[in-house]
Amino acid sequence: MLVDYHTHNYLCKHADGTIEDYIQHAVAIGLHEIGISDHSPMPDHWDGEVRMNEEQFWNEYKPAVFALQEKYKDNIKVKFGLEGDFFPGTEQWVKEFLSKNEFDYVLGSVHYLGEWGFDNPIFVHRYEEQDIDSVYELYYEHIKKSAQCRLFDIISHCDLVKKFGHRPTKNMEELLRETFKVVKDSNMAVEINTSGLRKPIKEQYPSEKILAILSELKIPLTLGSDAHTPEDVGRDFGLAKEFIEKYGNGRISLFTKRQRSEVKVS
Ligand code: ZN
Ligand code: FE
Ligand code: FE
Ligand code: ZN
Repeated sequence: MLVDYHTHNYLCKHADGTIEDYIQHAVAIGLHEIGISDHSPMPDHWDGEVRMNEEQFWNEYKPAVFALQEKYKDNIKVKFGLEGDFFPGTEQWVKEFLSKNEFDYVLGSVHYLGEWGFDNPIFVHRYEEQDIDSVYELYYEHIKKSAQCRLFDIISHCDLVKKFGHRPTKNMEELLRETFKVVKDSNMAVEINTSGLRKPIKEQYPSEKILAILSELKIPLTLGSDAHTPEDVGRDFGLAKEFIEKYGNGRISLFTKRQRSEVKVS
């Protein structure tokens, strides 16, 4: 069984292709499930340049996912997902929005530290203007809170802060352990996200060091390409499967209506 639970589409304005294009690519490469998980709408047009608005969610995204579920039901299982954002102050809005829908799963992502969109290439210079260890500490503080808020099922790209190649100078082992214990207590899964291999860091999220901690804590793993173009669906899943074998007991998590189950990866 092989699935891709992290895909985008044209609605977020920084990805190519329709939802159907992503599904067709998933069928072509033989995936058993594909999760549609475009960037969630947020209140007050927050970060509106890189996401659909609420109207598009109700009028395009949601109906399209359900129509395509039906259309492709003999070929592949299409899951109704979403990539949510953890941003302090928006939790109540997000909670209400999520409760109005029967998602199969919701990814929890940290893309902002305060006003700084730290994974946006436009603002990469800000890494040089701060103490990198403090950036990492602040980042993992956010990951912890994104787990504690209990809004999401899966922590996506959980070491995204490394994206442009900035590494901490301090040993982060203890901080990581503490962070992922909170993730474990929140009953969440963590995603192996292959998009890091296509970024300056040239490494999947998370690193093997973190994968070893996840394995020790018995945190379940999911699989996602974070495709922003249809051809990237399932990209580098050969490597990801090796990590699932090594750090996840050979098992991946599936989600249906926000209930987790496990299957053997193959
Ligand atoms: Zn995106
Ligand atoms: Fe993301
Ligand atoms: Fe994404
Ligand atoms: Zn993402």
